[in-house]
Amino acid sequence: MAIVMSVNAGSSSFKFQVFEMPEEKVLAQGNVERIGLENSIFGMKFNGQKIKEVMDIPDHGVAVKKIMSALVDNKIVEHLDDIQAVGHRMVHGGEYFDHSVKESQEAIDKFIELTDLAPLHNPAGLLGYRSFKEALPHASHTFVFDTAFHQSMPKENYLYPIPYEYYENDKIRRYGMHGTSHLYLTQRYAELTGKKIEDVNIVTCHLGNGGSITAVKNGKSFKTSMGFTPLAGIMMGTRCGDIDPAIIVYLQKKYGYTYEDIDNILNKKSGFLGVSGISSDSRDIEDAAAEGNERAILAEKMFNNRVIETVSGYIGLMGGADAIVFAGGIGENSWLHRKEICDGLSVFGVEVLDELNKDVRGVEKKLSSEASKMEVWLIPTDEELVMARDAYKDLMENA
Ligand code: ADP
Repeated sequence: MAIVMSVNAGSSSFKFQVFEMPEEKVLAQGNVERIGLENSIFGMKFNGQKIKEVMDIPDHGVAVKKIMSALVDNKIVEHLDDIQAVGHRMVHGGEYFDHSVKESQEAIDKFIELTDLAPLHNPAGLLGYRSFKEALPHASHTFVFDTAFHQSMPKENYLYPIPYEYYENDKIRRYGMHGTSHLYLTQRYAELTGKKIEDVNIVTCHLGNGGSITAVKNGKSFKTSMGFTPLAGIMMGTRCGDIDPAIIVYLQKKYGYTYEDIDNILNKKSGFLGVSGISSDSRDIEDAAAEGNERAILAEKMFNNRVIETVSGYIGLMGGADAIVFAGGIGENSWLHRKEICDGLSVFGVEVLDELNKDVRGVEKKLSSEASKMEVWLIPTDEELVMARDAYKDLMENA
């Protein structure tokens, strides 16, 4: 038995979970928010209890000390040395990392070289790793990448039709994100259906505030909707997803926008928020749509259509699929979105009945009818578990 943590560091936050492995039992989960700002918040759930403290946490190092003392004080671990392994979410692994790796100077150097590809996320991942390494120097640390699962995409599916030198010189290509989630969904679908991973042909829909869809062929990512950055693909909470790239040039010319302006508009002001003018949160949009708000109704239709289009395209590209899997905040909670999307896929013989789907949230369940030609599943995703599994695997291999 080993205690293993999974850690997701943001520029001003930490999310963590503590697992007992190999049982995969969650002992605690929590987060630190507003690091570096006044009134930082520490929260943790364990053993049916919940704690929340507001205090000033000036940096990530102090945040980790707070997490560590909370784990000991609440007897989740007896000594810090009991934590034997940590899986760190490092976000962008470029073309170099196609699976999780144990910490090494070489891996750190390579990772730093990739900073350009994720200028906000990769430094946060590194900072998180360094802070935990200082607190837990004897633990085994493993780097987990959001992009790794998608490294199996064939070249014709990851290249953009722009001059080839931008790929050769600048590594501009589709990388995809949420790989840890799509991998989990693939593995879990295989377990639930008793299939071998290499026989899994499905489309996984991770629909959250950020969303991506992946064609999983023979258990591997074959194509995914996020691209060079997480801005691409379906419509999201505040991100536009795929748009005509010439719109950018047009707006720059017309309004003299800088690249920061464009970045802000497309990443923070578009999607559900931009179309509805109400909110980036799909719950607010659903409520407004139910009251007849036209732009909310429009935003819902646009979102659903993007998902339908992408799933349909992937089914065609893969030469057929056995199942569609829903996950993420919207996929796991909104039966209405699932219904509209599945109705839009009826051409493939997809049939999801209300009695199987209505009001179902947050549980593993097959939603399609017996008559459905393709299965539809709801599988709550668990990226933290994948991180803990990879960290535990490294720990065992090096024991
Ligand atoms: P992130 O990409 O930040 O991880 P999440 O996966 O948490 O996002 O998803 C957030 C989205 O999920 C929001 O649009 C939110 O409205 C939606 N969501 C969460 N809970 C519900 C719910 N009970 N009903 C409908 N939508 C929900």
